[in-house]
Amino acid sequence: MTPAFKIVLAIWAVSMYLVGFIAWRVQNDALKRGYSSITASFWSLGVLFMAPIMLPLYILLREKSAPTETEPDEVEQARRRLFIICPHCGEENPPELTRCQKCGRLLVSEGKAIGTKACPYCGEQNDINAVYCANCKQPF
Ligand SMILES: [Zn+2]
Ligand SMILES: [Zn+2]
Repeated sequence: MTPAFKIVLAIWAVSMYLVGFIAWRVQNDALKRGYSSITASFWSLGVLFMAPIMLPLYILLREKSAPTETEPDEVEQARRRLFIICPHCGEENPPELTRCQKCGRLLVSEGKAIGTKACPYCGEQNDINAVYCANCKQPF
């Protein structure tokens, strides 16, 4: 093996390693941008075999930005914080429960919910069946 051939081999190995890394990054990037795994693999393989063509093409054609997770609006977040205070032990329960998660006693009586719920906006204790807060008037 001639020294020149060794150098060529080394350069080839390093560039294959780099291209492989870039292809892997392209696949991750494509998946993050909402491409299907097939499309992401297509771009990844394209970059792997034809990096000088496919990499600029991908950067040109890819979606402008990764889709950002849509923040649930404030009301939705507040609704999630709404909880029911057990009338027996004072435990805070998620609103979908019919039995207290701490003492196991019913949070409903004759088909109607009992106990109080804390207003997610101001913390005021309200009757469980109230449709708006007695203190700040925010609807539940
Ligand atoms: Zn309880
Ligand atoms: Zn309130």
